Amino acid sequence: MKKEQMDELLQECGAVLKGHFLLTSGLHSDTYVEKFKLLQYPRLTEKMCKEIANYFENKKPHLILGAATGGIIISHAVGRELSVKSIFAERVDGKLVLRRGFNIEKGERVLVVDDVVTTGGSIYELLDLVEEYGGKLLGVGTLIDRSGDALDFGVDYYTLVRYNIPTYKPENCPLCASNIPMTERGRTGK
Ligand SMILES: [Zn+2]
Repeated sequence: MKKEQMDELLQECGAVLKGHFLLTSGLHSDTYVEKFKLLQYPRLTEKMCKEIANYFENKKPHLILGAATGGIIISHAVGRELSVKSIFAERVDGKLVLRRGFNIEKGERVLVVDDVVTTGGSIYELLDLVEEYGGKLLGVGTLIDRSGDALDFGVDYYTLVRYNIPTYKPENCPLCASNIPMTERGRTGK
């Protein structure tokens, strides 16, 4: 899928919102990617995850690992495409852990996936988790990277769409400086 196509799809399903947003990371931004506007369409999600699967297929992963909540859907779709296991980590006391009997065997070949990357925080945590369990990390695959070129996970990294969306610390935010009120995402966001 070409970037323009993907762009268009994201706009069409209302996944890219404009305003003044407080991101999970605590940073401010004029653009917000509401990933579930995209993930609510299974066929579309499947189509995109297929691209991640195709890219990493020749590395022969044993296991796909995502993080709750959106990452569960991505992990599942990529795992189904490659006919391999799909598991997810979830937060307990702020830390990503494996529960529900999930495990990474020593030497198991793991592909880490996520939906939208902003700071890469969750992905770095997933990489630590793979290392902790002694898995062999094959790479990272994501649908949307909104960090620009900022991130280097030190492994093979594939993303379908890359946006360079500036983020600001509250004290440096030009939108705050212009007294633009924060956009309420109550109805559409979390
Ligand atoms: Zn602001």
